[in-house]
Formats: sequence, C-alpha cells, structure tokens
Amino acid sequence: MAESSKRKMRLVYALAAALSLQAAIAVAAGPNKPEPLLAYAARIVGDDARTRVVIDFDRQPSFSVHYIANPVRIVVDLPATAFGFKADDLGARGLFKDIRYGTMDENSARIVLMAIKPVKLAIAKVQEDEDGKGHRLVLDAERVSKEEFATLVKAQSWSDPATTPQTASAKPAPDTAKPGDFIIAVDAGHGGIDTGAIGADTKTEEKQVTLAFAKALADRLNREAGIKAFLTRSDDEFLSLAERVQIARENHAGLFISLHADTLKQKDIRGSTVYTISDKASDKLAADLADRENLSDQIAGKETVAEPPAVADILLDLTRRETQAFSISLAESVLGSFKDQISTINNPHRHAGFRVLQAPDVPSILLELGFLSNVDDEKLLLDDKWRAKVVDRLTDAVKHYRSSFVANGG
Ligand SMILES: [Zn+2]
Repeated sequence: MAESSKRKMRLVYALAAALSLQAAIAVAAGPNKPEPLLAYAARIVGDDARTRVVIDFDRQPSFSVHYIANPVRIVVDLPATAFGFKADDLGARGLFKDIRYGTMDENSARIVLMAIKPVKLAIAKVQEDEDGKGHRLVLDAERVSKEEFATLVKAQSWSDPATTPQTASAKPAPDTAKPGDFIIAVDAGHGGIDTGAIGADTKTEEKQVTLAFAKALADRLNREAGIKAFLTRSDDEFLSLAERVQIARENHAGLFISLHADTLKQKDIRGSTVYTISDKASDKLAADLADRENLSDQIAGKETVAEPPAVADILLDLTRRETQAFSISLAESVLGSFKDQISTINNPHRHAGFRVLQAPDVPSILLELGFLSNVDDEKLLLDDKWRAKVVDRLTDAVKHYRSSFVANGG
C-alpha cells in the first residue's frame, strides 16, 4: 500500500475507534457526569538524551505532573479520560522503557512513564491544534543527574486534591448480608491502568477476563443460601493491592478469592493453579509470578510503601498461622472440586509472597484460571460455558470448605 493511503487507513481506523469509544462513553456517562476526555492519538519520538511524547485530545485537558523514585517514574494525572489510541503508539523509546495509561477511578486517569534513568520534563504543556479543533499535550523529557531528580521528588507537592494519591476507600458493605451470612470477597485481578497480561491470540486483556469471571462467580455464590459474595471492583478501575486487602477486611469477609489469567514465557503450559501465601516461594514459576503481580502498584504510579517492620506479636502470629491453614484448606477444596473437571498444571497448589494475599485474618487464595499465553487456555477463558463450569466448581468448593472447616457453618 502506498504511504499516503496507509496513512488514510490509519486515520479511518483511529476515527472509527474514537467514534465507537465516544458512543460507549455517551452511554456510560449518564445525565449528570461530564463526558470523559478523549485521547485519540499519541506518538513518541527522540532518543535517550531527549524524548518527546505527544497525546492528542478532543478538548483541553487539565493535568498535573509528579515524579516518583525507586524506580524512576513520571506520573501525569488527568481527569476521566478514554484512551482511543493503540498501545503500540506509545511503545518503549528513548528515555522511557514502559508507558502505561488508563483509568484510576471514575473521575481520574493517569499516564505513567517508566524511565531508564533520572529524567525531568523540560516542557509539559497543552497546545491548541492549528485548526483549533483539538488540543495536544506535549511532554519533553530530558536526562538529569540523580541529585537533581531527588530534588524534584522532594520539592513537589501532592496537595492538589484532584491528584492526591487516594487512600483506600472502603466499598459499602454488602447491604443485603444478614447476620450469620458467610461473606466472600471476590477480587478481579488488575484493572484500570493496570491491564495485566495480554492474550496470545485475541489480545484480550487479563483485567477484562478477571472481571467477567468475578461477576459470574459473585452472582453464582449469591444464589446459595447463607452466602453473600461481593466484588472488590465492579468496573474497569485501578485498586492497589493494599486496597483490595483492606476492602475485604472492612467488609468482614470470611474468604478472599483473587482471580487471574496471567501469561508465562513457556507458552505450552496450560491449566489452572491455586496459590496461597508464604514467605518462601514453592518454586521459580510461583516466585516469578508473585514478583510480576506485586508490580501492579508500581505500574499505576503508586509510591513504594516500605514494608512495615515485622512486629513480634504472638497473637498476630497465631492468627496468621491459623489463617494460612484455612487458606490451604480452601485451596485443597478448590482442587478437589476441579478434579477431572477443570484441567490444572502440574503440582497445582503452589505458594509465594503475593501481596494481595496478605490479610492476616482473611483466608485468601489467588486462582490462576488459566494462562493467556496459551492459545487453548485463551479460548477457554473467553468461553461462556467454561466460565459457568468453573464458577459452579468454585461454588462447590466454597460450600465444601464452609461445611468442613468453618465452625457452625458460618
Ligand atoms: Zn494477574
């Protein structure tokens, strides 16, 4: 295809994507909500001395910039924004090795630029297009010394209420829970700016797969008498790992089930895996996976929170150990219920230091439903019938766990 007609095709695609997005937004926005901004195109140019990122918006975006160390990141906060360009348009280049963007919550979106070395934005401004129809955000990054970067990090303030890092917001407790109900937190892995893994064949995002499963599982569990399930997130929004744990605890969950569908380098590996927490990983696959899962907060531009020092608290230690035993019982119930029905990987119960599993008092498992890196698993993960079957098996496992391990059945 000639260069000019290729360009035309690209424009047609971008417009089509933008239009369908806008239609979706108009439906989702409702009567009183301002329509999200539309970021309809983006590009990156430059080298590792100076790199320019340009993003085109349909209207003038307000924005704020922050710097975060360990690792070096630039965070650009925006009002609610729909991103209509392809991920490839902002691929790694020059000073940036990874660029993520997406929803944080219903009112805000974020771009996180992961840098290869200390950087600052020499230019960060919004320009009107020549035709006056759109606005472009121009970000010019340049290398700075370590010291200068440290000064930038220190000097900034997060006081702008629109961009202050959110503290965990408790979701309303499941309102229909009755005293004595067995409450279960169903956690859809990833979300918003953190897309999770990408499907090998269909390029489906893990965050969509996990949300579809989480909704189906909560619905199915809620058909059981005496069980009340709720979702940690019900939309495409970002939740930090600590927020997920906190939501479960604040709602007095008796179980926490985090759903995932990650990718592996070994594309032939397929099947489900159930993880419980431990300080020491059971094997390399589990350790690598926990490392990647634990990056979620970093991807979203959250500041690295120092681990609290281990407190020598015998009671807490006892609680933790008891909780861990319950978590293992739940994992075994799940695998018992999957037997001969849902295929699993070798040694399907593994353990590692997943941060999302660290509630000291809520028995927790992380279920890898299958791997998006395997085309056969990917097909299953997108299949309604298979989803319904898995959800049935999981409900069975929860009932078995409850009747066997929970005093008074709840
Ligand atoms: Zn995941």
